[in-house]
Amino acid sequence: MKKKLVLINPHPQGRYGEEDIRVIVQMPLNLAYIAAHTPRDEWEIDLIDETRDDAIDENGKLTFDADLVGITALTYQAGRGYKIAEACRRAGIKTVMGGTHAITATVEAVDHVDAVVTGEVEMVWRRLLSDFKEGKLQKLYDGGFPELEYLKVWPDREWAHAKYGYKYSSIITTKGCPWRCEFCSVPLAQGKTFRERDVEDVLNEMEATPFRGLMFAEDNFYGYKPESNERARKLFKGMVDRGIYKDWFGFTQFSTGHDKEALKYMGDSGCLGFLIGMESTDEQVLRKMRKGSNLKTGVENYASAIQNIHDAGMIVWASVIWGADFQTKDCFKTMTDYLLEHSIDVLTFGVHCPFPETALYKRMVQENRLLRTDFPDDWQYYDTANLTHTLSHMTLDEFIEGMQYLYDHMYGEENLKKRFIETLKRNGNRRTAMFAYKVGMDWDKVFRQVLRNLYELRESGLYQKVVKERGLMVATAA
Ligand code: SF4
Repeated sequence: MKKKLVLINPHPQGRYGEEDIRVIVQMPLNLAYIAAHTPRDEWEIDLIDETRDDAIDENGKLTFDADLVGITALTYQAGRGYKIAEACRRAGIKTVMGGTHAITATVEAVDHVDAVVTGEVEMVWRRLLSDFKEGKLQKLYDGGFPELEYLKVWPDREWAHAKYGYKYSSIITTKGCPWRCEFCSVPLAQGKTFRERDVEDVLNEMEATPFRGLMFAEDNFYGYKPESNERARKLFKGMVDRGIYKDWFGFTQFSTGHDKEALKYMGDSGCLGFLIGMESTDEQVLRKMRKGSNLKTGVENYASAIQNIHDAGMIVWASVIWGADFQTKDCFKTMTDYLLEHSIDVLTFGVHCPFPETALYKRMVQENRLLRTDFPDDWQYYDTANLTHTLSHMTLDEFIEGMQYLYDHMYGEENLKKRFIETLKRNGNRRTAMFAYKVGMDWDKVFRQVLRNLYELRESGLYQKVVKERGLMVATAA
């Protein structure tokens, strides 16, 4: 008789966040990979995506049966994942956890589940299943960060789509990052080497998937070295040559906007635009973040990249960090002026967040600046939608005022409509301009949630108490 495996994407109840952006709501691709690596003659597999269904009810009881449960978690999902694991333990069901949080907070995760997978799960998954069947499940499996050959087994998107009908999927074309930005967990979770998939295999997978909406899942699809940039051009050209046209977008760095050949192929293959980690236009702030890729491009060269992307008919989606050291109360107006002047089509942001084991986390611990340390419950706040450390160069009131200023000038229906018209004027492409507008409409709700989080933090008195008790002073701008 087949065993039953249930794979779960946990979701803290009541949360509204990036995962709710409707135009790009997508399947948990990592679970679709695990499904593809699970022998179907031995296992029946179900998916519970808690953005749609609950895995436990209000009494903490499981809503499903299983022999084995696999849980993936980013840091903000970890507490909910552990609650599900606890319910499984009470029901006598073994649990496995993987994902960024389990990789960066392994010692903690080991205490909450029966087995933890670090590194690439695909490398150890079959062994883990067979250990489970033999009653010899190990506490830790490390898949390491090998070359991406193993991704030639494509994710089982149909399995995930059959359950929840996702509109968008994602695709992995690279993994890892050689930079060491202070706040970022990518080098920890995916390795410090930039690993690239075989271009022909990626194209074959694109051709085979019926998903029209496709997000490149990695943090930089363009790459960091000239050889990687050449490979990226080959990939986009390959899409055009094979007639692969998708509603696609992804994440990359400013230098992509200086590669006109790449931009041409991207536009011709359906690229809507891409998200760039702009973070800040202040070099002192970027240096403190160790955001080397932006410093290498040079802040003065952002504008020409933005112009090129617009000229190619695509949209610029900028992501900014708020609450970083050296940011003063003036940064909100400065950035708003910049965003409007250059017609950034979508602005999203993250509140500066010390994810576990990052250099930023270690520094914040050392400087005694963390606001919330009741882990694992407090991990729910480590999601870039909450302030989790004290600010260095402004007060909480100034931060909240600045964020409200940003909302009032960049968001709200009227501002979004104006931005849509401006985008259309700059890039002349109704399809991509409409995409930007829809993302903006969804981000409006995320932004309002962030503002609510900040006002609640102020009302709770926690921030003021921490600052007073620890004698933390606001530094003056240099
Ligand atoms: S922010 Fe981007 S460039 Fe910096 S370490 Fe993370 S993935 Fe690499």
